[in-house]
Amino acid sequence: MNWLRKVMNGRYGVDQLSIALLVISVILTIVGIFPKVHVFSTLAIIPMILCYLRIFSRNIRKRYEENQKFLNFWNPIRNTFKKKAERSKDKAHRLYKCPKCGKTVRVPKGKGKICITCPICKEEFIRKS
Ligand SMILES: [Zn+2]
Repeated sequence: MNWLRKVMNGRYGVDQLSIALLVISVILTIVGIFPKVHVFSTLAIIPMILCYLRIFSRNIRKRYEENQKFLNFWNPIRNTFKKKAERSKDKAHRLYKCPKCGKTVRVPKGKGKICITCPICKEEFIRKS
């Protein structure tokens, strides 16, 4: 692996944006398998080239800034998916929307009919948990 260290010396390397470009390229390649949209498999080479240019770039500051911009865009999206995944994993609770203000209220499951009090507007409503 010594040769790789020599080649990568002073170069930027892999970051989240490069990985995202690689993923886009793979997706385009897969989509391009279908005959009517085979142009995508040709387009897939663009993010692939960008990915390698970034990895071997010597302008580390510029690449770092690009990655930060990408993360500013990507992290809120990722967090939304994360929260949704965590919620669907939670089998011990149920979520109800307050009929008055629309706030999501989390209540324990399997307690039968319960009276839920909204923490925001204090509206009370009865639901089966
Ligand atoms: Zn409410």
